[in-house]
Amino acid sequence: MPTKFYFENAIEKGKGELVALGTRFLIITGQSSRKNGSLEAVIKVFKDNQKYFEIFDQTEENPSEQMVKKIIETYGKNWDVVVGLGGGSPMDAAKAVAVLCKNEIEIEDLYNPEKYSAALPIVCIPTTSGTGSEVTQYSVLTVNGQKKGFKHETIFPKLSFIDPVYTLTMPEELTLSTGLDALSHAIESAVSKRSNPMSELYSFKAIEIIKDTLPELLKDLSNYELRKKIMFASTLAGISISITGTTIAHALGYSITTEKGIRHGLATAVFLPFELQQANTQTAKKILEMFDGSLLNYFKNIGVKISFPVSDKELETWTERVSKASHVAITPGNYNREKIYEAYLWLIEKSGLYGG
Ligand code: ZN
Repeated sequence: MPTKFYFENAIEKGKGELVALGTRFLIITGQSSRKNGSLEAVIKVFKDNQKYFEIFDQTEENPSEQMVKKIIETYGKNWDVVVGLGGGSPMDAAKAVAVLCKNEIEIEDLYNPEKYSAALPIVCIPTTSGTGSEVTQYSVLTVNGQKKGFKHETIFPKLSFIDPVYTLTMPEELTLSTGLDALSHAIESAVSKRSNPMSELYSFKAIEIIKDTLPELLKDLSNYELRKKIMFASTLAGISISITGTTIAHALGYSITTEKGIRHGLATAVFLPFELQQANTQTAKKILEMFDGSLLNYFKNIGVKISFPVSDKELETWTERVSKASHVAITPGNYNREKIYEAYLWLIEKSGLYGG
């Protein structure tokens, strides 16, 4: 994981390295960065150092290819650095923009790693605790209503400024869904066939911290120490998936996010009990023990709720989609079509427990 990152008071500590990266900075962000102080902090550094910058602040949740194209059309390619500021969406969009600025390729070529070998330097400033994008070589866009990810060594951020202070204003629902995303990364990474002793150092530490901290944080949203613990755990979980990738729960959750509007972390985490049960490995058992034998009960206790209408046709389409996902091969439990379909049926059955 080649990204250099600063943690806590981060921009202050690393601003010298930030301004040394170039003279023209394109900032990609959403609306919340104006409220949590992060945009202001980065603008101040650019102004103090006479750097040229422009701001795209219309990033949508689950960024689409069209939005990325629009950014390139509007702002051009003549930039030194692309800054992704906010949750996973602006960071993932910034990664796509950084590749397109540096290469004469079509947007579809992002998914073909052989088509390019460089990107503009990427700087990430997360303002949620969950995505891990600030320490990974992944970006997930939405193409024709479906999630499509790309992975490339060149999109590891050059620098990341990870500061819990920007997460203090997150509302409860977002705190829960992003916390669940971090937990999903940690658990999926641990369960993955690609996990190794190195990735497990990060994934298990992250699980341990999130398990104890998330319930406390949900009752005390403005507690800085708890925000700091969760953000640290989210970073560890991000590092663990930079080694292993995510597994089946992410693939299963994508359609529920794009088609039912359920937030990514929530849509993913609700499949973790099924994933652990099917994996049935020593690691899966060890994780279940950490949650006193039932992750489902843990979720219930912290108020995880999911509910959406779904048709047989939709379930078939989603099953078909997941069966083609790269996550299948690295998830223990031999997922064929029947088992993927079973995962969705299991969620429908358990959604009573999830409060739906
Ligand atoms: Zn995720």
